[in-house]
Amino acid sequence: MSAIPDDRCRPVGSVPPGMWREVVGVATDLDDTLTAHGELSAKVVAALEDVRAMGLPCVVATGRSLGWGAVLARVLPVRAVVAENGGAYVRREEAGVRIAFMEPDEVRDAGMRRVAECVGAITDRFAALRVVSDGALRVTDVALDINERVSVDPAVVAAAVAMARDAGLHAVTSSIHMHVSYRAADKVAGLRAALGALGLDPAALDARWIYVGDSPNDAGAFGAMALSFGVAGVRRFAGSMPAWPRYATDEDGPFGFAAVVAALRAGRAA
Ligand SMILES: [Mg+2]
Repeated sequence: MSAIPDDRCRPVGSVPPGMWREVVGVATDLDDTLTAHGELSAKVVAALEDVRAMGLPCVVATGRSLGWGAVLARVLPVRAVVAENGGAYVRREEAGVRIAFMEPDEVRDAGMRRVAECVGAITDRFAALRVVSDGALRVTDVALDINERVSVDPAVVAAAVAMARDAGLHAVTSSIHMHVSYRAADKVAGLRAALGALGLDPAALDARWIYVGDSPNDAGAFGAMALSFGVAGVRRFAGSMPAWPRYATDEDGPFGFAAVVAALRAGRAA
């Protein structure tokens, strides 16, 4: 088990006071960060409305499908949703939403044929691993359920991840799913593209946007963004987390997200 470095997962109170006033946006994961047990509470919607009331844009970055992203971008008080770990994004546009992909259709189609073949081999070998029930809504990866409706032995997940990588594909896990894709999971690249499409400065992401997450598929953002926060549950990934958030909350899931927003509000008022 790799220990958490001393300069990572620091208390929220150790954020230098002046940094809160530098913040220009809030990006966040969805599952087990905004949601708990799969549900979105009034507390989280209130926290998202708080961010908007501060005049700051909020963007969700999730491993969930593009189908989910299109709905979330329309019904939550956010400017955009990056879906499928950066494979596509949806931005709010007047009364509707607009979808954009990171690659041309032919790259996606060829990539997804390779993914389908590999996932077929994985599910043939491991009976415990099954494609998620809403897989038809996905366009840039296939997700396997590891901890949503069923609980799969981590050793099986590790072996399946190795199979995908041996096939020249990419695999990443969240708290609930294992994703297999022709493209590397990259929520940060998806966030940069979404910010650009919104007319916001993608370069501000590194130092002036907050990111809140909980799982290995958030590690890219944790590593790239100076104001990265893990909710308390992030600590359970000791041993399998490629990069840790700079800060971590004492509260888990939506309570952790709300704690970051409360600290942001207090820090900007100070
Ligand atoms: Mg998550």
